[in-house]
Amino acid sequence: MLKTTIEGLIVAVQPRIRLLRSFDQRQHNYPGYALLVESAADRKQAWIGVGPAAQAKFGFCAGGRFSAEVEPVANPDLEPVAFYKAAKIRYTLGIPQPGSPPPWFGVPPDLPTYRARGHRRLDPHVYERVCHLCIWGCRMAVEMTIDQWNPEEKQYRRETFCYGPKSCPIYHAGLVREVPGRNGTTWIEEDWVDEEATSHRGPDD
Ligand code: SF4
Repeated sequence: MLKTTIEGLIVAVQPRIRLLRSFDQRQHNYPGYALLVESAADRKQAWIGVGPAAQAKFGFCAGGRFSAEVEPVANPDLEPVAFYKAAKIRYTLGIPQPGSPPPWFGVPPDLPTYRARGHRRLDPHVYERVCHLCIWGCRMAVEMTIDQWNPEEKQYRRETFCYGPKSCPIYHAGLVREVPGRNGTTWIEEDWVDEEATSHRGPDD
C-alpha cells in the first residue's frame, strides 16, 4: 500500500467502531478512533483511523494539529475511515473549540466508556449536518451476515449512532433500521432496542 503524509487541523474525533449484524443479533468491534483532518495543503477533509494506544498517548481532540504517514484502507467495506495505520505521528494541542455544546468537543473518553454507555440510532442527515463533529457521534462500518448457515454471504453499509446525552436537543432518531435475513426475511430494529441499550442512563448523562 502506498503511504501518504497528511498534515492539518483536527476537526473532529469520534470512536471507530465496527458493527457486526446477524438478523436480530449485533456485536461491536472497537478498533480505535477516527480523526477528521482538514489538510493544510488543500483544505480537503479525510477521516483517519488511529488505535486506542495512540489516542491515549496523544489525547487527540478537535482544534489540534496532526501530521502522520498513513495508508489507504485495504477494504473500505470494513472501515468508516479512508486512511489508517498512522505512523510518525506528530501532534500539537490547539485552541479549544468555541461555543457550548451540542456538539461536544474535547478529548473523547476511552472505548470501554462508549461500550458501557450504549447508543441510539441517529438520523444520517443530522449526523452529516452536525453530529459528525461531536465526540458522541459515530458512523459505523456495518457487516451483515444474511444467512448464518452460509456465513460467506455478507452485505455492507454504514449506520450512524449517538452515544451522547438523551436530552441533546439536536438528536433525531430517523427511520427504524431493517436488517435482511435468510429467505427474504427482515428484522426491524424498533425503538425499544435503543431504549434498552441506554436505559441505565438518565436524560443528561
Ligand atoms: S445528537 Fe448525539 S452526536 Fe449529535 S450533537 Fe447531540 S450528543 Fe452529539
